[in-house]
Amino acid sequence: MDSGARICRRCLLADMADRRPLYELVREYIESLDEDIRTGETVYRERLAVCRACEYLNAGTCAKCGCYAEARAAKKYTSCPDVPPRWMTEK
Ligand code: SF4
Repeated sequence: MDSGARICRRCLLADMADRRPLYELVREYIESLDEDIRTGETVYRERLAVCRACEYLNAGTCAKCGCYAEARAAKKYTSCPDVPPRWMTEK
């Protein structure tokens, strides 16, 4: 039976109304990160724009590493897990 819910493969958690509670948890996690390790807002948005266009994004999760893309992108020291990486660590 079709529940009417559709999975948006190329969406981040922030883009999916039915994932709002999970998104709020991820946002809380991101906001709890120390300023020293949290990605700057401009770089964060640039990273997520790349993820949104990536075939490995699957309903908010990166199929390459299993992370929520928003959580992975929020840390300066991480890079995209693809080879070669589609975005790099923040300097
Ligand atoms: S982290 Fe890299 S591989 Fe994963 S969804 Fe984003 S761009 Fe794609």
